[in-house]
Amino acid sequence: MVTDERFLDHRRERSHPECPARLQAVWSGMEAAGVADAIIGREPTPSTDADLLRCHSPAQLEKLEKLHAVGGGQVDIDTYMGAGSWEAARLASGAGLVAATALREAEADVAFCAVRPPGHHATSATSMGFCLVNNLAVTAAALVATGERVAVVDIDAHHGNGTQDIFYDDNRVMFVSIHQWPLYPGTGRIDEIGEGEGKGTTLNLPLPVGSAGDTYRYALDATVIPVIERFDPDWLLVSAGFDGHRLDPLSNLGLTSGDFADMSARIVRLVPPRRCILFLEGGYDLGALSDSVGAALAAVVGVDHRPEPSSGAGPGSDVVDEAARIHGVNR
Ligand SMILES: [Zn+2]
Repeated sequence: MVTDERFLDHRRERSHPECPARLQAVWSGMEAAGVADAIIGREPTPSTDADLLRCHSPAQLEKLEKLHAVGGGQVDIDTYMGAGSWEAARLASGAGLVAATALREAEADVAFCAVRPPGHHATSATSMGFCLVNNLAVTAAALVATGERVAVVDIDAHHGNGTQDIFYDDNRVMFVSIHQWPLYPGTGRIDEIGEGEGKGTTLNLPLPVGSAGDTYRYALDATVIPVIERFDPDWLLVSAGFDGHRLDPLSNLGLTSGDFADMSARIVRLVPPRRCILFLEGGYDLGALSDSVGAALAAVVGVDHRPEPSSGAGPGSDVVDEAARIHGVNR
């Protein structure tokens, strides 16, 4: 695990759903899951300008640095910077690089970057949706630069528009997002499949309100897993957002912590050991976040810890069938 107390320094005075208590809920959920002995900790190092410039425009970074220089402020209506935010964002976007090195050196089998601010809404030109820079994309771009192929699975309730944008025409990165539709930020339609050389390397599963565990398991088995196996990646990066939980205030899905255990177990086994890095994205009900992270990480290390059972039926299987058809998955 790569995490750091300095991620708590990304905060503002007025309350905001993306708050430091989220990370403390993540840590306590791991404690409660009884997996602490299976986890080794590593400190992140800040990303460099060169790391960030693989994914973001110079103008965007300049805007963030200017705001940092005056002590912070609002980037947009949803997205803030406080006095400690730029250091936190540099560390959050460097965390995956530390994780990749640790996995290459066989220090662990799977890595989890418990970081904030989150990253998956940050596009190549715009910081938005609580995200300053795209933590996962910085790692993906660094891996691609060494000639490797990267698959991304984004299970956050919101569409990972930033990650999609950065790699939309890049056939070295397969981007998969399962998300609620309609919902912020309004992208991630089923017919957004990539463009140019990247045509076919974006897979969107926009699920209706109320979609629950059965639909997610079906989505993984019927589309996500076959498409990623066909892509044959060297690395798998996961945007691990937990705001699809049924109690989350920012979405209307029906998942439980048990569902996050099921999904995590399936997803990490898509690649051999030492090739998977999970990045914390959303999750705004503190209790649900704590339970869901604990269940997910327990499943990753092979421990059955389920604060809640998996959920069952819900809508959305027709969306999965349609995505399988669009992406040529034979079943
Ligand atoms: Zn989200």
